[in-house]
Amino acid sequence: MEIQTVGVIGAGTMGNGIAQACAVSGLEVVMVDIDEAAVQRGLATVAASLDRLVKKAKLTLDDQVAALARIRVGTDYALLKPAQLVIEAATENEALKRKILAQLDATLPADAIVATNTSSISITKLAAATQRSDRFIGMHFFNPVPMMALVEVIRGLQTSDATHDAVHAMAKKLGKTPVTVKNAPGFVVNRILIPMVNEAFFVLADGLATPEDIDAGMKLGCNHPIGPLALADMIGLDVCLAVMNVYVEEFADSKYRPCPLLKEMVAAGWLGRKTGRGVYRY
Ligand code: NAD
Repeated sequence: MEIQTVGVIGAGTMGNGIAQACAVSGLEVVMVDIDEAAVQRGLATVAASLDRLVKKAKLTLDDQVAALARIRVGTDYALLKPAQLVIEAATENEALKRKILAQLDATLPADAIVATNTSSISITKLAAATQRSDRFIGMHFFNPVPMMALVEVIRGLQTSDATHDAVHAMAKKLGKTPVTVKNAPGFVVNRILIPMVNEAFFVLADGLATPEDIDAGMKLGCNHPIGPLALADMIGLDVCLAVMNVYVEEFADSKYRPCPLLKEMVAAGWLGRKTGRGVYRY
């Protein structure tokens, strides 16, 4: 199936980035949020982001105008009817996502594909909650979406080859590099990344080096653009801990034990940049 119109649910950080990436690549976009103010903020974010691309000569003025004209927005799910693919990027909450999927089943034609941008909820489990489990898939974008090249395309147990192939091709059309992943907690990138961040807290707790030197080690020794502790501060220490706790629960393997120092810092409310203090002070 050729995808010409993409629906995006949620106009927040990820939703507006996905809408922008789709519109710039020539797709018609409908972005729907439950909150009218969020819709307007999302649209303003896209406009400002496109402005920056024009100023950097990465986009022409004509292309900016055309991309913005391809985005329709609103709070009514009926707007999504023409979409061949709807990407759900609403708040990370399983009950909420189940409700949205039921609304989509009631709104979309039977052959439409539904993708979710969830970071942590099982694709197989969400697929089972829809009436289109073979046409359901994970499409995990990275933040900021317009800049980040990767999309993890996550197959639930029920996902059909046709659905996978259509979504994989569509990610390429966005100029992204899709990697196909089987459904499992953390998919691929976060399965590796978050335990690495957790290990950096063990290294810090063991007093092996200062935070600055641990981060310098991983930046200069592994060519990472940011050290793991600075990254934890960006992601949020609470989010890192929550992800480790998911692995503990799902894999029942002690190798995912969250570092006690990470737990202690979360308990103190030192969550990183968002609270002004994490491993570092801001
Ligand atoms: P966000 O809080 O910035 O935006 C979520 C938006 O969803 C809000 O505007 C909210 O009003 C809207 N929403 C809530 N209920 C809705 C409903 N019933 N219908 C329509 N819209 C509704 O969140 P975000 O960071 O953009 O995350 C969205 C999804 O993307 C989550 O599943 C998250 O796990 C995933 N994700 C986030 C990141 C990241 O770095 N932020 C990265 C990858 C994946």
